[in-house]
Amino acid sequence: MSVDVLPVLDLTAPDKVGRVVARSHRLRTLGLALGGIMVGAVLYRHGVPAQMWVLLALHALAWPHVAWLILRRSDDPIADDKSFFLGDAAMGGVWIALMQFNLLPAMLLVTMYAITLIAIDGSKYLIRGMALQVLACGVAAVANGLQFQPETDMPEVLAALPLLLVFPVTLGFIMHGLAQQVLGQNRQLVRLGSIDALSGLLNRRQWEDAVNVALSRRCCGSAMLLLIDIDRFKRINDQFGHTSGDEVVRLVGEIIRAGLRQGDLAGRYGGDEFGVLLCDTDPDAAETVADRIRAGVADLRIEHAPGLRCTLSIGLARGPAGIGTAREWIERADVALYRAKLAGRNRFVVAA
Ligand code: GH3
Ligand code: MG
Repeated sequence: MSVDVLPVLDLTAPDKVGRVVARSHRLRTLGLALGGIMVGAVLYRHGVPAQMWVLLALHALAWPHVAWLILRRSDDPIADDKSFFLGDAAMGGVWIALMQFNLLPAMLLVTMYAITLIAIDGSKYLIRGMALQVLACGVAAVANGLQFQPETDMPEVLAALPLLLVFPVTLGFIMHGLAQQVLGQNRQLVRLGSIDALSGLLNRRQWEDAVNVALSRRCCGSAMLLLIDIDRFKRINDQFGHTSGDEVVRLVGEIIRAGLRQGDLAGRYGGDEFGVLLCDTDPDAAETVADRIRAGVADLRIEHAPGLRCTLSIGLARGPAGIGTAREWIERADVALYRAKLAGRNRFVVAA
């Protein structure tokens, strides 16, 4: 498991709402334009009056952009957009009546509105949208003199093809993109739950679990475990304040992380204590890593606390011969760490 710094996850960020509005603008523009071609073909055959063409142009061509302008200024664009889609579904009912129930275009409109409503907010939203569509269709049919001509001719079939082919495929791509986004966010949530926010390393439980998994996979033949403790951390807190203390924890986490390779595991084991598992590493190499971390922290300088100096004591334990659990391994490293403290701190000691 790598321990990169994680981007902050904010599902309500304005840019995310902006993206939702932009996506629905593209979907509405495309759907209504393609639907407009199909409806136009039927209206053309019926020789409808000019007002109906104006209504079609307003709905199919102008409305998507008007809706987008309104949504960009809205306080709750997502809720408003959902209302607009209900309005669109109702308008679909009107067009079905004005096309005199021409069978193929009418069925296509019903289907496309249904899948759009389901994609946006599931079955309850679909029922509301469809109820509005039926109602609007009934009113428009009465106003249109209950005209009924369900036959579809070839030009109308051809005019329906762009909607039939392009719209569901586009919706499929949108849904796939959203599913990928949700997958990524879920992974991020799992990782956020495993990471100590201050140091950016695994938290204690996750680190111990990961060490146990490494032990159970017997991939620690020449592994070394390091237990690292900040020296006199209480004094740092007392002299420079807790905020500086926190900054030290953050920087120690950064220095530890910078010294690791892919496959190594680092965690914050306690307040000022850190654990590192170095896989496929012999004792000499582990000593080099430990001393590099120790020296890196000893060189640390913090701008707003210029007098602050920080050192580390490190215990190293070889593994895993005779070691059954992470806890046993950590205890061995802890004994070595204790010896490093007794020997004067700012050093590492390898367990016997
Ligand atoms: P030693 O060299 O023997 O380790 O001395 P020490 O002062 O570091 O002793 P100890 O490890 O017992 O003290 C750890 C202190 O770390 C106690 C606690 O107040 C402080 N601490 C624990 N977590 C945090 C934290 O997240 N931020 C800050 N600022 N302090 C912390
Ligand atoms: Mg300490």
